[in-house]
Amino acid sequence: MTKLAKIQAALEDRNMEAVLVTSDYNRRYVADFTGTTGMALITPSKAFFVTDFRYTEQAAKQAVGFEIRQNKGPIFETVQAIIAELGIQKLYFEEAYVTVAEHKLMQSFFSAKLEPFSDLFEDMRKVKTASELSAIKTACEIADEAFTHILTFIKPGLTELEVSNELEFFMRRNGASGSSFDTIVASGLRSALPHGVASDKIIEVGDFVTMDYGCYYNGYCSDMTRTIAIGEPSAKLKEIYAVTLEAQLKVIDALKPGMTGIEADAIARDHIASKGYGEAFGHSLGHGIGLEIHEGPNLSMKSPNVLVAGNVVTDEPGIYLPGVGGVRIEDDILITETGNEVLTHSSKELIIL
Ligand code: ZN
Ligand code: ZN
Repeated sequence: MTKLAKIQAALEDRNMEAVLVTSDYNRRYVADFTGTTGMALITPSKAFFVTDFRYTEQAAKQAVGFEIRQNKGPIFETVQAIIAELGIQKLYFEEAYVTVAEHKLMQSFFSAKLEPFSDLFEDMRKVKTASELSAIKTACEIADEAFTHILTFIKPGLTELEVSNELEFFMRRNGASGSSFDTIVASGLRSALPHGVASDKIIEVGDFVTMDYGCYYNGYCSDMTRTIAIGEPSAKLKEIYAVTLEAQLKVIDALKPGMTGIEADAIARDHIASKGYGEAFGHSLGHGIGLEIHEGPNLSMKSPNVLVAGNVVTDEPGIYLPGVGGVRIEDDILITETGNEVLTHSSKELIIL
């Protein structure tokens, strides 16, 4: 069954007459269209893609199974022509993405009644197709190669920014189209900042350096974190490294379909708490990745969602001690029918440079 056929079956099941997909990531997902302007209108039996002359040819190549319509005037005018042609009475729009101004505009153009919908495509996106998985795996390989490279580059005296730029340049040189989020390089006391985006701080002997980064490959993300030591670290830093790694590995041992986000999160959280650092792990265990760097399913204290084969999630416990330093270790993990497969392979033993 093609992705479009699955989408159409889902519309049929939900008794949805027609949906208009306007948001960037969902439009890319439903139509495989990588351009920046266009809308997909999908019914249980038909699919249209509306875009202007700049993208008509590209849409014809990418949006397989869609009938392409070129808008010469306002895009909503062309959408309305399809609504009239098919006699659509009720058109569902993406409530999480349509602005009040766009909604007003739709009302002024469309003869169909507008109905909000949400989560349909976000839920489908949680289970990756073979081609999505292949892109994610390549994005993970590039991130792994970048880690191997950065170990030969990083040294005392460099700034965090120099390290983050080198990571990003390396990933682009090796096939990535860009970083999947602002690269985090947090060294020394800054490593206690869970989201310490690279700064002009100079990396010094005795620092822990946390690097959290990833790339886009063919539109899909990778996201990994490694913490390394520059020179011999203190006993305290070594201890929190060991506890974080144990927590991270316990999750890998246990992750499988049928487990909830809450259960997965608890594995790491309970271990870290048992070692006395419960207060120092202040964020959730992980999140889904795909077209977006943060998407479903989440692994957190508030996520009852049940994991299924085809999910790709991160496993990223951390311990952050203000005035001392911090550790985070993160892998990307595919949930399989029988358990899981780790997609990022860089060493997690404490590396002391
Ligand atoms: Zn990350
Ligand atoms: Zn992450």
